[in-house]
Amino acid sequence: MRHVGRTLALLAALISAAGWAQNNTLQDVRVWAAPDRTRVVFDLTGPFKHDMFRLENPDRLVVDVPDARRAEALAKDFEGKGFVRQVRSGVRNGDDLRLVLDLAEPVAPNMFTLEPNQQYGHRLVLDLENGASNPQRQPEATEPHYGGREFVVAIDAGHGGEDPGAVGPSGTREKDIVLKISRELERLIAAEPGMRPVMIRNGDYYVGLRERMDKAREARADLFISVHADAFRDRRAKGSSVYVLSRSGATSEHARWLAEQENAADLVGGVTLRNKDADLASFMLDLSQGASIEASLDVGGRVLREIRQINDLHKHEVQQAGFLVLKSPDIPSLLVETAFISNPGEERELRDGAHRRQLAQAMLSGIRDYVASYRPGDGRDLARARMHEVRPGETLSGIAARYGVSVADIRQANQLSRDVIRIGAELRIPPPSDAQVTASAS
Ligand SMILES: [Zn+2]
Repeated sequence: MRHVGRTLALLAALISAAGWAQNNTLQDVRVWAAPDRTRVVFDLTGPFKHDMFRLENPDRLVVDVPDARRAEALAKDFEGKGFVRQVRSGVRNGDDLRLVLDLAEPVAPNMFTLEPNQQYGHRLVLDLENGASNPQRQPEATEPHYGGREFVVAIDAGHGGEDPGAVGPSGTREKDIVLKISRELERLIAAEPGMRPVMIRNGDYYVGLRERMDKAREARADLFISVHADAFRDRRAKGSSVYVLSRSGATSEHARWLAEQENAADLVGGVTLRNKDADLASFMLDLSQGASIEASLDVGGRVLREIRQINDLHKHEVQQAGFLVLKSPDIPSLLVETAFISNPGEERELRDGAHRRQLAQAMLSGIRDYVASYRPGDGRDLARARMHEVRPGETLSGIAARYGVSVADIRQANQLSRDVIRIGAELRIPPPSDAQVTASAS
């Protein structure tokens, strides 16, 4: 008893001598970006006071945390994401911590604190939402838009360099033809309001399959479209086909993604998988991959319908296979076999510029259709914002309404036996059912 008392007294003396600064250290800065929202989380070791103000020209948010310091191992500046270009930190008045967020655009900030939970300590959370109140940000009614921002299409011309792909009877190489079609598609998409093309390969060189996926992710692509030309030993084989990833093809890839936790981080709509237990990480990847395949089937079907207007179809349904290049768990991906280069007739057509333009036009029409059908909150959002951290004052029914799902679904997904939720708890948000999507859209 006496011993404990002495230890406490000693501790109290230490704390008063050192002030908060000894106890309160910024340990980490985490930035997550969804299309319409960026969340910045500052991890601190103890309870803290804070103050925030805005600066304009350029747009910045300044957060002061009195009596706190940055952990020595922690970098001074952090690269931003989403609405945050960069997070800088400095010392103010000797022992106050100042955090400056350089913003990419004016945003509506919402700041709150979270108490420690089993995974994290004291947190200062800053949610930045794009200013729906700002009329300049409203897209034109006539423009297609995808969650209020540009729809980025990664165009992947197959093969290239030392890999010629298939070669036609008169020597036409797949790598040359598909690059030409891809450039045609690039030109069309560039002219499309609200869309932006990104060429994965833009010359006669080879790009590794994983590198192709990485490039699409770096470009924050909303869609990956790989352009190929088919070949078969029977020269009579002809027609176009569209492929998306099969569920079984995704499975082995998951294991690999999960094994590489570093790569898996930030995959799922900017929600980091680091620090998540293996079950949860697997669940999130599954959800994301499932949503991506759904979306891929949707856009693939639309592209196939358009191609049917100008070419025979080899397969009348979207095909599912385990193509590596389609395995991004977070980007809807399709592979278009434009025609059989091994068929003399189709080879001739592929060599014809007007026909290539038609093929590109058909792909664009399908993509445009898909973008126009987008509703915020539909399946394509599944890869994003599927975890919800409970804030003070929130109820299960309120959270359910916000995500367009039922309370029962959230309870089931989180194995909750009651409607009581703990502040700071991270809830899995299950995908909304079709009925719920329809209801929320009408
Ligand atoms: Zn090919």
